[in-house]
Amino acid sequence: MVDKDIRQSEMMRRVSVPAADAIIGKPFPVLDHGFVMLVDYMGGDSSIVQAARTSYGKGTKKKSDDEGLIRYLMRHGHTTPFEMAEIKLFAKMPIFVARQWVRHRTASINEYSLRYSLVDECFYIPEPENISVQSKSNRQGREGTLPPVEVDSFRKDLENTSKEAYANYMKHVEAGMTRELARALLPVNFYTQWYWKTNLHNMFHFLRLRLDQHAQFEIRSYADVIAKITKSVAPVAYSAFEDYELNAVRLSSKERKALQNIVNDAHSVDEAVNSAGLRLDNQDGIRMKSGEGVEAVSKINDLIRR
Ligand SMILES: Cc1cc2nc3c(=O)[nH]c(=O)nc-3n(C[C@H](O)[C@H](O)[C@H](O)COP(=O)(O)OP(=O)(O)OC[C@H]3O[C@@H](n4cnc5c(N)ncnc54)[C@H](O)[C@@H]3O)c2cc1C
Repeated sequence: MVDKDIRQSEMMRRVSVPAADAIIGKPFPVLDHGFVMLVDYMGGDSSIVQAARTSYGKGTKKKSDDEGLIRYLMRHGHTTPFEMAEIKLFAKMPIFVARQWVRHRTASINEYSLRYSLVDECFYIPEPENISVQSKSNRQGREGTLPPVEVDSFRKDLENTSKEAYANYMKHVEAGMTRELARALLPVNFYTQWYWKTNLHNMFHFLRLRLDQHAQFEIRSYADVIAKITKSVAPVAYSAFEDYELNAVRLSSKERKALQNIVNDAHSVDEAVNSAGLRLDNQDGIRMKSGEGVEAVSKINDLIRR
């Protein structure tokens, strides 16, 4: 092997991320009886860099360059390097949460079989503060508080219905009924469990949709925990995701026009970009040729002039 091959084989060693290793097998509680656990991961920030440098034909660089590269890839939608890291979770969630979660088709799932195994008497009762009025502006949402008497009555009905359903389920199972049919007696607040494995690119897509305020509170609670787990596996990529995807704003053509009206009456674009914390000059005072600040000036100039 020549030196280059030896360097390459060193780069190919299994990636280990101490912050992720520290939480493997630890259940993070969600809702009243649920949890999410990191089972394993493959790769992390360095796998993204490794894949990207292969595609650009460049060798290993400094840590600060690696961070810049990951942020560049995220900014420019060069997504395949993010597919090189994978996260495997084990989670327990109410069946109605699983129904929403399973819609993310780009993950691999293995669910606890209710044809094969007995269901536990484990069901979800929302906390009073999470029981709200049907939203008028968003048919899929909640807003405002209900009178405590209605909240109490809902929780009691949910508990009684769940207990009664479980008693009926067990009665028929014990009478010899096949489990695959007996389970039809159970409501969707009963808990199920699964292994869920996806790559970082699809994980960010899942998180962008399910951390959003429009996502239902219950699945958002799972997304909050999964976001923390993802951050421990790939902190630099997660931070880039937060900046350029999660907290980024997409403008419609009318919104762009509104922004033009505002900016046209304010400071210069350079001043506006600088005061937003983006650098335009090198330390020697010479203007940068590329970088996030330069891109921002170009983007805003484009917004104003069109
Ligand atoms: C707030 C909210 C409300 C929702 N409300 C509803 C609802 O009322 N009813 C409902 O049915 N669903 C609803 N959904 C589910 C939603 O429509 C998506 O199915 C879900 O968010 C998964 O997104 P996805 O398809 O992008 O993800 P994935 O399935 O992970 O797919 C990722 C990407 O792969 C590509 N892809 C995957 N499969 C295909 C395919 N077959 N064809 C073309 N491209 C593909 C797409 O680019 C897709 O964005 C809701 C989701 C959210 C977040």
